[in-house]
Amino acid sequence: MLRTHTCGELNISHLGQTVTLCGWVQKSRDLGGTTFIDVRDRYGLTQLIFNTDTDATLREKSRGLGREFVIKVTGDVIERASKNTKIPTGEIEIAVTDIEVLNAAKLPPFLIEDETDGGEELRAKYRYLDLRRNPIRNNLVLRHKMAQEVRKYLDELDFIEVETPVLIKSTPEGARDFVVPSRMNAGEFYALPQSPQTFKQLLMVSGFDRYFQIVKCFRDEDLRADRQPEFTQIDCELSFVSQEDILNIFEGLTRHLFKTVKGIDLVELPRMLYSDAMRLYGSDKPDLRFGMEFVELNDIVKGKGFSIFDNAELVVGINAKGCAGYTRKQVDELTEWLKRPQIGVTGMIYCRYNEDGTLKSSVDKFYNEDELTNWAAAFNAEKGDLMLILAGGADKVRKQLNELRLEMGNRLGLRDKNTFAPLWVVDFPLLEWDEESGRYHAMHHPFTSPKPEDIAMLDTEPGAVRANAYDLVINGTEIGGGSIRIHDRGLQSLMFKHLGFSPEEAQKQFGFLMDAFEYGAPPHGGIAFGFDRLASIFAGLDSIRDVIAFPKNNSGRDVMIDSPSTIAEAQMTELKIKTTV
Ligand code: ASP
Repeated sequence: MLRTHTCGELNISHLGQTVTLCGWVQKSRDLGGTTFIDVRDRYGLTQLIFNTDTDATLREKSRGLGREFVIKVTGDVIERASKNTKIPTGEIEIAVTDIEVLNAAKLPPFLIEDETDGGEELRAKYRYLDLRRNPIRNNLVLRHKMAQEVRKYLDELDFIEVETPVLIKSTPEGARDFVVPSRMNAGEFYALPQSPQTFKQLLMVSGFDRYFQIVKCFRDEDLRADRQPEFTQIDCELSFVSQEDILNIFEGLTRHLFKTVKGIDLVELPRMLYSDAMRLYGSDKPDLRFGMEFVELNDIVKGKGFSIFDNAELVVGINAKGCAGYTRKQVDELTEWLKRPQIGVTGMIYCRYNEDGTLKSSVDKFYNEDELTNWAAAFNAEKGDLMLILAGGADKVRKQLNELRLEMGNRLGLRDKNTFAPLWVVDFPLLEWDEESGRYHAMHHPFTSPKPEDIAMLDTEPGAVRANAYDLVINGTEIGGGSIRIHDRGLQSLMFKHLGFSPEEAQKQFGFLMDAFEYGAPPHGGIAFGFDRLASIFAGLDSIRDVIAFPKNNSGRDVMIDSPSTIAEAQMTELKIKTTV
């Protein structure tokens, strides 16, 4: 090796040793007779000292060194006169006797420091330089560690890692597919997998019993902070298991990761029915770092002449603890925030429980102090609290109040990144109504099994049928989801029928899977974790971008390699995408 040590490991115990280090010039200070240079590598930073007074050659060499030059230095480990207690190598420095420039570097377009001056666009273009910065590299080291621990845990439980294909077949399930033209089969296309779902089920038919894969998946969707066109799942499938078995095994994985990677002992994960999550939090991914549960008020507010409440399907609110002191302006500002088209609230009612014990609402005309006392009791409110109330159609108003609850959680500092509140949400509906297409869609995917006791309702009340489906939620983010699958042809055909497939379409799209079910398919189920999201939560980040080495921007572009890009006319012709005229 070119070096004897890394830039992060030398300390007082190495005094007197002659060492050789390699790395990048972080910065250099010329103090006349002496020059100090910090040399950096993945492991840390070491201070070099050049006695340029006595050694003309060294003087010459040290002067030409710019930021990010790659150097190799040899010298003796000596004790520093002024020590730096902030870094592990801070007690020593290297008195350099020889230096070699391994490669010169242009001045980087932004500072390679923890706090950089580079904007997002610039850093994305020079991602390889951004990746030299500690915070970004640390995220990838964390991700690596998590991946190792996932493999360790699952291997221990007899899971086998199997690679499934990347060039597969386009299916009308879930999101839009990315497609790849086939040169050898003119006019035909492969699709990139949105997930290895059908393959992992086929592996169960093959008797693999326990499968996993840390796998790239592709979805052509609009991008957000927690979405990338290509992302990674920890994808798993098991045979001969109940939902309970799956929850236990993957609660175990979650616990193992928190323990080994973050040193946190999780308490047992609570389980919440989907219906309760919607009723109490207006979301199927409730953030349980704080309470502020919904309080339904229909029984106590209707029939008093206030038409907004009287005409609403649901009147529901939250108790913002300690916020009675909000000024009129602050409340108005909150209302305006709720009125933005993304949320679409028409108005908010509030009631202050003042410190002096009086109750004051924005609808005093309709509700006297006695009635407001009932409100306060329903909210469990105390002096100093502020009750915030919305009214409207039940589904819509719950979604709106969810936004308000999360916003109040932010304002009250209740969503600390170092606090983790995981839970299972269970008993999801099997189907969800889609306004746009005017038909039911599978809420999870078409392979999810209905609860046996609900199958009869498929014809009469499809929306009420519950699925054997579950999500793992952490801090308001869906981290994993899965289900017990259908494993018989009859039920799978019935499911496709309810999803609006003709028998021919179902056979064309998924015949291979239904055929397989006729050759001894074991009962099976599984789950997939969004690995990028899990890593970003572990890293305390809002976006998944910085746990991905080379992410795409919001328009799905990789600005570093400038992709997507056009291809040559000849390539198009060869692929029969467009023939030249
Ligand atoms: N394939 C599913 C998904 O990507 C996960 C599963 O059901 O295992 O959401």
